[in-house]
Amino acid sequence: MGRTLQLDHHSTGMEASVTLQRAIELTCHSPFERRTEEIPLGDAHGRVLAEHLTSKVDDPRFDNSAMDGWAVRAADCEIEGSTLSITGTSKAGGETPAAVGSGETCRIMTGAPIPEGADAIVMVEDSEEVGNTVRILGPARPGYIRKRAENLRVGQEALQKGSHLGPAELSLAATMGHGEIEVVVRPKVAVISTGDELVPPGAELAAGQIHESNSYGVAALIERMGGQAVHYDVVHDTINGLRETLDSAARECDAILTSGGVSMGKWDLVRRLMEDEGELSFWRVRIRPGGPPLFGTWKGTPLFGLPGNPVSSHVVFISLVSPWLSHCMEAHPENGPTLADKVKVKLVERIKGAPGKLCMRRVRIEAGENELTASVHTHQGSGNIHSMVAHNGLTLLPPGTEGNPGDIIDALWLR
Ligand code: AMP
Ligand code: MG
Repeated sequence: MGRTLQLDHHSTGMEASVTLQRAIELTCHSPFERRTEEIPLGDAHGRVLAEHLTSKVDDPRFDNSAMDGWAVRAADCEIEGSTLSITGTSKAGGETPAAVGSGETCRIMTGAPIPEGADAIVMVEDSEEVGNTVRILGPARPGYIRKRAENLRVGQEALQKGSHLGPAELSLAATMGHGEIEVVVRPKVAVISTGDELVPPGAELAAGQIHESNSYGVAALIERMGGQAVHYDVVHDTINGLRETLDSAARECDAILTSGGVSMGKWDLVRRLMEDEGELSFWRVRIRPGGPPLFGTWKGTPLFGLPGNPVSSHVVFISLVSPWLSHCMEAHPENGPTLADKVKVKLVERIKGAPGKLCMRRVRIEAGENELTASVHTHQGSGNIHSMVAHNGLTLLPPGTEGNPGDIIDALWLR
């Protein structure tokens, strides 16, 4: 019954062979519902921050020493060899040290508070202790005092909403006094491989079979973006099996990623099923590799049909799925999770472009003398996943252009 309706709908709604820009725009019309949760800071690695974080403290909280040494009055140390009497010790976490008067000094450790009266530090290495006195043999430096709030002030907003929480962000959040933080709930993303030829790595291969590999890479890409990958068993090339798995995935997950079955082949069932029973937004994107992806919704759940060729599934994830995930999680445009940085590279050799398509060849990006260089080291076939390991970048050759040695072009430097 639905078939006629669906076809009508598609004849007006579905777009074919769209640019990457248009494809991203269309996917962003179908976000998943973003939710947030409060979690302990210790569990927040790799998550996307859902609030601005302001500092609860001044950093440093008090003037303190950047060196192990002696807290002094600089005026007492102008002559090399001056002798000062030791009044006590200031240690990190210790008692408030006594004030330092003229001709006096206080032993001080890194991070310990500066005693009243002192205005400079002499390093241990520049001193000689003699009984209850110390001879000053080097400079007294005011710059070795770390001033209260020179890094952060109470109330200063130092971490923005949408930031990806990596090691430095976690340390900063802790410094600012946040033990619990609000983060985006990791979207559950179904990973479904399709194809009769696929068996898990480690299993015996019968004639015509290959190891299923896409789900491993795609799941890792999801996790890197701050999502949660949910693995489904490989779906064989039957419409009923595929429909059943998509139904479960739509119930259990926020989004669905399939791989394989989206081209023109007789068993390209993801495309057929989406055409007949799903809501297709677009099919085919003008990129190489990775031309045949589709996007739409299955029973209301956003679905990306990634191409089966291993390189294509990675490239489509990086160029199409990742901007969508960022959009849905309201990730910060610069500080949010990302899989690649856009850079300028100088081509070492000729790189073939693609007529009418944005061409993303695998290249090795390296630091040259004055610029980043890009070179090719393996066969570029979209079936050769080794090319994603032997290289660390993708060219962004505009449609219909060729890359010649010495050309400066845009590229994605993969993280
Ligand atoms: P398809 O789009 O289903 O025709 O698949 C295109 C190519 O990718 C074929 O050579 C498939 O065997 C291969 N392929 C599809 N899915 C996977 C997968 N999950 N892991 C590895 N190779 C795959
Ligand atoms: Mg297939």
